[in-house]
Amino acid sequence: MSAAPPTETAIASVCVYCGARTGADPAYSQAATALGQGLAAAGVRLVYGAGDVGLMGTVARACQDAGGETFGVIPQHLVKREVAKRDLATFVVTETMHERKKVMLYNSDAVVVLPGGMGSLDELFEAITWRQLGLHDKPIVILNINGYWTPLRALIDHIIAEEFAGADVARSLIWVDTAAEAISALR
Ligand code: AMP
Repeated sequence: MSAAPPTETAIASVCVYCGARTGADPAYSQAATALGQGLAAAGVRLVYGAGDVGLMGTVARACQDAGGETFGVIPQHLVKREVAKRDLATFVVTETMHERKKVMLYNSDAVVVLPGGMGSLDELFEAITWRQLGLHDKPIVILNINGYWTPLRALIDHIIAEEFAGADVARSLIWVDTAAEAISALR
């Protein structure tokens, strides 16, 4: 991916990273539902990992049910495991995980991260590090539902304080507490 120039255009498509599980707190599913509905209401396309499991399925169904546009990308080897949601407006099957992540980010103007596990962290850090390297300038919004990502925020602050990353990394991240704030941050 080559360096993208800064854009002033409105955000039309958002890549959502989130858990393939629902997590322990029902607030996570509620936030996924609110985010899917909010994207649909704002006329913003949802780009995500095309699974029908966990928060991934929840955000996609909420967006679809509210009349929103959905774009899912899944690697062939996860079609069964993550219960591929084939009824999305756009459904893409890739050969590899790396291709999946590239297609998702390429087709989005911004990134929103809901609570999730190792896969979500991997995706978030790819978005952060690619931005750090100047490969894109897409906003990265972290939805800190009930403080789920607060330990991650502390770790990122620690990494910056210990001078293994610049303050620009912190400035590239938008922390919000609710799906409504995430939608507002995208405007
Ligand atoms: P998780 O947050 O672990 O529930 O995973 C959420 C999504 O991230 C799933 O669709 C995973 O397939 C995906 N994912 C992306 N990159 C990775 C990776 N390197 N390892 C595991 N899962 C990943």
